[in-house]
Amino acid sequence: MIELVSESRCIQCNICVNVCPTNVFDKVPGALPTISRQNDCQTCFMCELYCPVDALYVAPQVEPLAEVDEKSLTEAGLLGSYRQKLGWGRGQTNTAQEDSTYQLLKYFK
Ligand code: SF4
Ligand code: SF4
Repeated sequence: MIELVSESRCIQCNICVNVCPTNVFDKVPGALPTISRQNDCQTCFMCELYCPVDALYVAPQVEPLAEVDEKSLTEAGLLGSYRQKLGWGRGQTNTAQEDSTYQLLKYFK
């Protein structure tokens, strides 16, 4: 579930607002978007993948976390880690070839 929009990283591009399939965020003129409907989050990670500056954190848990602390997330290397692991976006290395399920495709050619 979406847990954090980083105040220090967000550049207010509103890409996350536009890509979210369940309309979780609201645009705020001159400010970072708000997580307005957290319970509508489907934990699809689309917003985290598309954020150009790794300012979002989507937790794998489907229920809201009791505490979310940007400093702890940063220190744990979690901000941007999902995008990095998938190799999604500019400056990342695509990791699809390392996915063993991807290897199954060769049997269907
Ligand atoms: S996509 Fe990232 S940088 Fe853009 S508004 Fe959302 S959180 Fe901020
Ligand atoms: S994880 Fe998916 S559903 Fe949840 S806020 Fe991000 S884009 Fe929306």
